Amino acid sequence: MLYRFATCPGLFYTTPAADGILSRIRIPGGIISSQQCRAIADIAEQHGGGYVDVTNRANLQIREIRTGINTEVLKYLQDMGLGSRNPVVDHIRNIMTSPTAGIDPQELIDTRPFVQSWDNYIAAHPALSGLSAKFSVCFDGGGIIRVCDRLNDILFAAVLLDGHVYFRLYLSVGAKGQPPSDMGILLPPEKCLPVLAALADVYLAHSNTTNKRRLRLLELLNTLGCENYLQEVQQHLPFPLLYSDLTPQPPSLIGKAEEFSPFLQREGLGEKSNANYQHIGIHPQRQQGLFYLGVVLPLGRLESSQIRGLADLATKYGSGTLRLTPWQNLLLTDIPQQWVGDILREIALLGLDSSASNIKSALVACSGKKGCAASATDTKSHALALAEYLKTRLTLDCPINIHFSGCEKSCAQHSNSDITLLGVRIEADNETVEGYHVYVGDSKEKFGRELYQNVTFAELPALIKRMLCVYKIQRLNSDECFGEFADRYTIAQLQHLFNIIPKSLVNNKIPNFLEKSAI
Ligand code: SF4
Repeated sequence: MLYRFATCPGLFYTTPAADGILSRIRIPGGIISSQQCRAIADIAEQHGGGYVDVTNRANLQIREIRTGINTEVLKYLQDMGLGSRNPVVDHIRNIMTSPTAGIDPQELIDTRPFVQSWDNYIAAHPALSGLSAKFSVCFDGGGIIRVCDRLNDILFAAVLLDGHVYFRLYLSVGAKGQPPSDMGILLPPEKCLPVLAALADVYLAHSNTTNKRRLRLLELLNTLGCENYLQEVQQHLPFPLLYSDLTPQPPSLIGKAEEFSPFLQREGLGEKSNANYQHIGIHPQRQQGLFYLGVVLPLGRLESSQIRGLADLATKYGSGTLRLTPWQNLLLTDIPQQWVGDILREIALLGLDSSASNIKSALVACSGKKGCAASATDTKSHALALAEYLKTRLTLDCPINIHFSGCEKSCAQHSNSDITLLGVRIEADNETVEGYHVYVGDSKEKFGRELYQNVTFAELPALIKRMLCVYKIQRLNSDECFGEFADRYTIAQLQHLFNIIPKSLVNNKIPNFLEKSAI
């Protein structure tokens, strides 16, 4: 079954990739049942490469499909509640929310009903097939695990005002790749869905749905202006939009959790974590006596046997539910306290773990040249090789988000990371070798600030090790993540600190002060 205007992979149309056909299954809110996991494991084994990838919108991808998935199998998946009930809208981006919605001890509101309602609305309104495949919606309930800094066209972020919960409306406007902007509008929760429907209707009214390339919401807002767009949205609504006089806030600052894992610190159980990876490890839920476990998925990938194993654990110890995260990891939820030790042991038997200090916990890579013709480098293999190299040479006490991207498109992670490695082909000594430009920290630039150019992959592991060693020594305190540390220095200062002459790293020259330290 093919959908004419699809430019992104979906379940109901095939997308060719360098390693075969790619199928993407939307999992609204990333919430999936054990039975659905088993069905996907079977499909991945029978039709694909025998594994699935969790994407940065908490979809599941099956790769290396040799011949298209037939109608009978698609119907079976639909009957299992996978993919949209209406194939013509299955191309629309997965609906994002916090993976801890409904179980987060600090959330202001459970966003799962909003995800479900919007998914139902899309399925019931075939006219929405005219939306761009990239039309993306996110609900953030204001808990510890936030998703409001993820790139989305439309964000509803919960805030508390005079004892009442509202959602602030954010829309994608301005430069590409920036988080959405605060529109200064406060919505009572029950008004979110009508406003979302009106936002979609106005988009459709301005967009030529016969064009193969659909307009992005950002492009429309940049042309039309937010004020005009919202005036038209208002005309579709039976109630007035409530404009607030609150100072506009970037989504990254909305209710950002200031403490991480308070329970774990109190109990002396946990490791430190940077904001985006607080979900890794064992954490108490808002439901007394129940815990969730954040499991590290190396590069977001799970073998089909691991999917079945996790599905069994979710049934045996929890409520039979798994939650995929936009950071390409996974949660098992609703685990009674007395089973926590058992589930940790069984996770290890599956070849997985749940330690935030595991270098793979925040390691991200796009499919790379094995799966994508645009890639300059074999990103996934390089990322795993780097993790192996660091594993025995460096002990981390917090996640370091290292992002390998095969080209500037940055499919695997749209936001800045601690360290971004952009794949390049380097001409040297009459041969072409794979390498990376190295970027660090937060910045208005797409990948952060450029630190080095053209580092060959042979030089890279020792370089990254050196950077992480210096970070551990020079950081202000153990709460300062690598990106924050890097942002305190100019590029020249960082280069001086890292004392980088890539060739010297090949020879393993390490400054004395590093060798003396207890790294
Ligand atoms: S980032 Fe570039 S190389 Fe990597 S998967 Fe996307 S398009 Fe391909």
